[in-house]
Amino acid sequence: MAATPPKPAAATPRRKVSRHRGEGQWAAGHFTPLNGNEQTKKDDDGLNVRTRIETIYSKRGFDSIDPGDLRGRMRWWGLYTQRRQGIDGGKTAILEPEELDDRYFMLRVRIDGGALTTAQLRVVGEISQEFARGTADITDRQNVQYHWIRIEDVPEIWNRLEGVGLSTVTACGDTPRVMIASPVAGIAEDEIIDGTPALEEMKRRVLNNPAYSNLPRKFKTAISGSPVQDVVHEINDVAFVGVEHPEHGPGFDLWVGGGLSTNPKLGVRLNAWVPIDDVPDVYEGVISIFRDYGYRRLRNRARLKFLVADWGAEKFRQVLEDEYLKRKLTDGPAPAEPSSRWRDHIGVHRQKDGRYYVGFAPRVGRVDGTILTKVADLAEAHGSGRVRTTVEQKMIVLDVEEGRVDSLVESLEALDLSARPSTFRRGTMACTGIEFCKLAIVETKARGASLIDELERRLPDFDEPLTINLNGCPNACARIQTADIGLKGQLMLDEHGEQVEGYQVHLGGALGLEAGFGRKVRGLKVTAQELPDYVERVLKRFQAEREDGER
Ligand code: SF4
Repeated sequence: MAATPPKPAAATPRRKVSRHRGEGQWAAGHFTPLNGNEQTKKDDDGLNVRTRIETIYSKRGFDSIDPGDLRGRMRWWGLYTQRRQGIDGGKTAILEPEELDDRYFMLRVRIDGGALTTAQLRVVGEISQEFARGTADITDRQNVQYHWIRIEDVPEIWNRLEGVGLSTVTACGDTPRVMIASPVAGIAEDEIIDGTPALEEMKRRVLNNPAYSNLPRKFKTAISGSPVQDVVHEINDVAFVGVEHPEHGPGFDLWVGGGLSTNPKLGVRLNAWVPIDDVPDVYEGVISIFRDYGYRRLRNRARLKFLVADWGAEKFRQVLEDEYLKRKLTDGPAPAEPSSRWRDHIGVHRQKDGRYYVGFAPRVGRVDGTILTKVADLAEAHGSGRVRTTVEQKMIVLDVEEGRVDSLVESLEALDLSARPSTFRRGTMACTGIEFCKLAIVETKARGASLIDELERRLPDFDEPLTINLNGCPNACARIQTADIGLKGQLMLDEHGEQVEGYQVHLGGALGLEAGFGRKVRGLKVTAQELPDYVERVLKRFQAEREDGER
């Protein structure tokens, strides 16, 4: 592969950065790759792997794939190898990465804003049935993920997705990932401002654009003008949160530097109010700061949150204004408290046009191609042409006339998709886990689903808003740090000294009004088998001892 020079930092002259000279920042002149990932990106832009997939790998098969592409650049088009079947969690840390690789892929379809037409949803469902053994998980970033994808089928899958305006571009990799947005943008009766025009412009500017295809690490974006604050804005690299400015009217409050995984951090406000027309410029400024000043030496210090933590909000805003926007931002107020404890839009809600939207809950985001196709059919049969996915692994059908709402709710219920779910079904999320994820140590999806069933049976009257999030490893794909009960998968010894699957427990995390990370309960681990008993005990005790209004 031809080596390409590193992309220049932004065209503006750079200030001298004396601190962190060893962090590999391009803006400080550090273009020599300091680790293998940076070298791979310098050798060839990840976006270029698409041509090789179309012309070589899909024709010659899995064994023809260049290792640098297989473990690196394929991500720029949403592809990861899935975990080889039958390898238990104990082997995750001791086997070489290639020993964990299956010859099949996970393929992530980016669904910015969770917005799908029923025609798009039907194609997503059909691809699942035809090429992915029926798999199609709704993720906690509004994407859909397939498994069991063969490299031979990828070009045809792209054809079909792109035929209806969907894409897998930069769904993974060190890139601008899917942009999450309020799933009820433009329709909710209580909306402060509709961020959709800004979202569309941000996509137009950065997707498939080589100027933003080599970032230090992933870059997560959120925008919502909903008063329930429904995009987990606190844990994104950049977030725009709807707010009413006392003089200038509705716009967005700017947050930067949130993120979970190692060293979780909540985003910080820059105390800036951004009118909707300026959101794309500000977005491009923030992502450019990340590209130019982001740390590239160590992968685990490469997210924007580390730069923000070192600089602080004031300096970050000043660099954004002086070097990138060339203008001052307007000071603005903090967003109001979220208007609801649940931020998921489950149930039946009136739209601003007098029609209704219906949010419903699969279990832990697990659906399949057949179900998705049926949801598209049902939506259309009830006069709707639009659905949305949410960051809680749930779905919404939009634009339903009042007289058809009950019929839709009943029809969804018949598919085991409840618009009136229990607290447990509503509030439980799980990451991919050991079924397909190479980093996983324990099972998550099936365990989350069975935990829901058990808790529904044992605590039928529990109706307090509650979140239970399960991760299959120490990473944070299911946001365990921000859940009321966060469960981090690990291996442990049971009472007989046998190694079994279990979870480290984190209690009391939250987003929204009382945002904060759950406390790791020192030494508290629970085996998978004991999990329902443990959660039942915690909840019964909470019910018995809570004070008025206590979460
Ligand atoms: Fe895989 Fe760990 Fe992420 Fe779960 S949290 S999907 S196990 S990397």
